Amino acid sequence: MMRLKAGDAIALFDDMSGEWRAVIEQVGKRAVAVRVEQRMREREAVPDLWLVAAPIKKGRIDWVAEKACELGVARWRPVITRRTIVDRLNLDRLRAHMIEAAEQCERTALPILDEPVKLSAMLRDWPADRALIFADEEGGMPMAEAVKPGPAAILIGPEGGFTDEERAAILAVPQAVGVSLGPRILRADTAMAAAVALWMGLAGD
Ligand code: SAM
Repeated sequence: MMRLKAGDAIALFDDMSGEWRAVIEQVGKRAVAVRVEQRMREREAVPDLWLVAAPIKKGRIDWVAEKACELGVARWRPVITRRTIVDRLNLDRLRAHMIEAAEQCERTALPILDEPVKLSAMLRDWPADRALIFADEEGGMPMAEAVKPGPAAILIGPEGGFTDEERAAILAVPQAVGVSLGPRILRADTAMAAAVALWMGLAGD
């Protein structure tokens, strides 16, 4: 921003009304005055996919924030599990990574980012109309068989995976379906991006 000067044209987006063309009127030390001129694009529609993923270590989770935004996730619901080792999430930092990814990849919609919730509470209140696609390294069906029309969520565990009790509780949810991402165990961050990319390739219009 500092390299820009009065009279330069820029593009702005606000995650509500889309992308706008604007012209810089004045550059101050802490603020820039702009004149908004014309809407270039409406806010894009994203498919109704949630990412339900346990917080993982800083750096890796920043990467997930970027990829969730690039891939078009509608909402990220961080979930606290027995083996979650990260106890606090800096939501502002994650949002900043999403905004940067949106700017790089011409997104005009950011994922909604929720406060973390315990897995047991989330499963208890699981919405009746939303498929729960559980990425299970112990095996499951291919993503292509699990994807159905309608709202969906992808559930990914933390670095240490889910306990046996958690696995059983997840699979007891009527909307849950276990999905394999292949025969190799993936890092949690890789699994998040791979599962969302697979779903988007199949149903992400
Ligand atoms: N210890 C590694 C790490 O530090 O990231 C591996 C973590 S793996 C156990 C974390 C989660 O990724 C699992 O709970 C599962 O949701 C998902 N996952 C990893 N590999 C998978 C696979 N082949 N199929 C389905 N899900 C997988």
